Amino acid sequence: MKIGIVGCGGRMGRMLMDEVMETEGCALAGGSERPDSDLIGRDPGELLGRRPLGVAITADAGALFAASDAVIDFTTPAATLAHADLAARSGKVLVIGTTGLSKDDEAAISAAACRAPVVMAPNFSVGVNLLLALTERAAAILGDDYDIDIVEMHHRHKVDAPSGTALGLGRAAASGRAVALDQVWRKSRDGHTGARPRGEIGFATLRGGDVVGDHSVIFAAEGERVELTHKASSRVVFAKGAVRAARWAATQPPGLYTMRDVLGL
Ligand code: NAD
Repeated sequence: MKIGIVGCGGRMGRMLMDEVMETEGCALAGGSERPDSDLIGRDPGELLGRRPLGVAITADAGALFAASDAVIDFTTPAATLAHADLAARSGKVLVIGTTGLSKDDEAAISAAACRAPVVMAPNFSVGVNLLLALTERAAAILGDDYDIDIVEMHHRHKVDAPSGTALGLGRAAASGRAVALDQVWRKSRDGHTGARPRGEIGFATLRGGDVVGDHSVIFAAEGERVELTHKASSRVVFAKGAVRAARWAATQPPGLYTMRDVLGL
């Protein structure tokens, strides 16, 4: 299976190219970058300190889709929208890890998924997806006597907050309580906030250093507290999950899938 990596020069892009080359049954079709990137024209193999692949990193994402069976995208919301359009035109598998997408962006991706298999997940780690399932179940069992707060920490370069995974955990908790997250969320607290309303789902964001991604869901009641925590220590878990998603999606009809579909959770 030939897999292309858009945004191949990024932190995740490089890791994804490495993972594709390491995975049996997969070959790297190539990579794309922004037109103003100084990586355009470079060989992805050389970029990773491996033997040359004989292809050049391109600014033409359309050409990369044409050369690939599946494309993996960990870039920016604007770039991901353009890539979703290319997936719809070509019918090729698209795996989206980009976070910070707006509701309108998600609607456009959903429309593209009518014409191509698209897997989108705020977090491709298997452990986090188990945490999502456990959070939904715990929220359903504990009910709203338990206050839910989601605490996340990421490296200092992260530009969006709360993290896509934290919001995903919020959605899982809200779904366990059969409510819509945007009716009950509080994304940050500052100043005179008043007492906490019953049923609120809160978020707290920490940023610093090189933290790959820590997420905790805290259920706090009078007399006890339940905490579910996941800590990623290497970004390789996201790359492994994304490649697994690409291989799974190649066997699926067009549609919008999540990592929970891929893992059968
Ligand atoms: P990064 O800034 O290191 O990499 C992004 C890359 O995309 C850059 O190299 C940039 O030049 C490239 N890019 C931007 N626009 C482009 C375009 N039009 N065409 C081609 N390339 C383009 O960022 P990162 O840390 O690798 O993260 C990227 C995204 O993935 C972020 O949204 C991050 O939150 C998300 N992420 C998701 C997961 C997950 O499991 N879902 C895990 C880690 C990171």
